[in-house]
Amino acid sequence: MSDSADKTNIPANFLRTIVSDDLASGKHRAIVTRFPPEPNGYLHIGHAKSICLNFGLARDFGGRCHLRFDDTNPAKEDVEYTESIKESVHWLGFDWGDHLYYASNYFDQLYEWAEFLIKGGKAYVDDQAAEEIRANRGSLTEPGKESPYRSRSAEENLDLFRRMRGGEFPDGAKVLRARIDMASPNINLRDPVIYRIIHASHPHTGDKWCIYPMYDFAHGQSDAIEGITHSICTLEFEDHKPLYEWFLENLPVPAKPRQYEFARLNLSYTVMSKRKLLQLVQDRDVSGWDDPRMPTLVGLRRRGYTPESIRSFCDTIGVGRSDSWIDMSILEESVRADLNERAPRAMAVLRPLKLVIENYAEGVVESFTVANHPQKPELGSRQVPFSRELWIENDDFMEEPVKGFKRLSPGMEVRLRNAYIIKCIGAVKDDKGEIREIRCTYDPETKSGMPGSERKVKGVIHWVSASHALSAEVRLYDRLFSVPSPAGDDWKALINLAAIEILPDCKLEQSLGDAAPEERFQFERNGYFCADRHDSMPGKPVFNRTVTLRDSWLKSPS
Ligand code: ATP
Ligand code: MG
Repeated sequence: MSDSADKTNIPANFLRTIVSDDLASGKHRAIVTRFPPEPNGYLHIGHAKSICLNFGLARDFGGRCHLRFDDTNPAKEDVEYTESIKESVHWLGFDWGDHLYYASNYFDQLYEWAEFLIKGGKAYVDDQAAEEIRANRGSLTEPGKESPYRSRSAEENLDLFRRMRGGEFPDGAKVLRARIDMASPNINLRDPVIYRIIHASHPHTGDKWCIYPMYDFAHGQSDAIEGITHSICTLEFEDHKPLYEWFLENLPVPAKPRQYEFARLNLSYTVMSKRKLLQLVQDRDVSGWDDPRMPTLVGLRRRGYTPESIRSFCDTIGVGRSDSWIDMSILEESVRADLNERAPRAMAVLRPLKLVIENYAEGVVESFTVANHPQKPELGSRQVPFSRELWIENDDFMEEPVKGFKRLSPGMEVRLRNAYIIKCIGAVKDDKGEIREIRCTYDPETKSGMPGSERKVKGVIHWVSASHALSAEVRLYDRLFSVPSPAGDDWKALINLAAIEILPDCKLEQSLGDAAPEERFQFERNGYFCADRHDSMPGKPVFNRTVTLRDSWLKSPS
């Protein structure tokens, strides 16, 4: 086998090998793939796997990839979905160029081919009701039963099919079926339905049609019309492959594409069926398709995932032929790794507690120059103001420290990141006994970066100058489900109620006020955060937590 054409860093997989071999052997001069979403929902991370695979093959082997909407069912489709799908494919970093298609572009041709089958005695109009057809299909162990209408003449079938098209019959009254083999061991070949009556307006063809082709009758033929060389789909279509090929054999199609199957992505702690995602949206368990807890591409984007991190995730998990589960931590690690490289650092206090430095003069403001990234001087630096009153994290202070606590407690010293070492001399409580304020002194000899500042203390904490702080809403997001595989009838009971926590009054470093929508930061010690693309206003960002700095779901060793 040759992989001469594959010069990328993407791990090899069986499809890359097939494509590479087909090019080397001259079977194809160029490859053409396609991504064929049904516009009945938003794209999710599973679709990203298919997009990266199809567009990635085209990119890496000098071919092209079409975006084709499988819009054969007008009852379920919506232009809202079409637009969002296009936007998400672009956002992921892929482009179909001039090759945007709709299965509905081919309705005329598909209709002609249906008549072609009828004329050749290879399709018939069946008057049985849907339930009868289903009941007569047989099972894996029993052959199907032939329909009493199976032996209609070609003339009669043609007449009936034309009258179906003409709108003479109500929905469900008749269907067109391919006449293949009711005893075939493959149930898909037991005279599959290829056209049904749906009196519904179609987003593209309007009221031109009241009969619509089934997916199986549209897909392979669309591939043939577009000159697709490698038609890549998920494993559940493996059993449809003989039917895919039967149509290509029995119709005068212009090309013979070939279908290949790969394992779909299953990801833990979430759900990926569009039906379930739609239900979460409709039942208002989430705020919408782009809720940052959703595994949709719009949700991941709003959460702060980068397209690079999703592409790298897809490369990491690879492409194979056996179904398996991928742990959510792998996706989270991919965005952590990407943002660790790229996200500027900032200090943000999420649960603020006031700290007063008694020996620091009132009214004095020092300004520290702080690097935006510890390893990347090219990301520049910023000025961070320091003054007598600061905000620190509430849980960086313990009045009675537990064993091993290295941060602030009475009599203890810590370093304020980028600033001085301070010592806690007391805490002020209100009449309910709640701690309102921490009192400290600072050591002026310990300013970060100055000679003599090397004195070491165990803990380092972050802070924000109280009079300079920006108050902002920060939303802490976590995994949507609390168990790895939320299946069964009761799957909604497994929603992780702690997957969203809204903190209305966090204290952020001033510079974060300029954050543009979707700008991402590492809030030191707290995680990676992204300015919400819808709710942020100039000077008033709202931040979403993309991911914590470390995997908090790792089981502690037992
Ligand atoms: P769902 O089952 O969630 O409704 P679908 O497969 O019906 O999804 P389509 O819009 O038909 O959704 O999918 C478009 C393409 O994306 C298809 O080629 C499909 O095989 C692929 N795809 C869908 N889900 C996954 C997944 N989890 N992993 C990999 N590819 C997927
Ligand atoms: Mg589908």
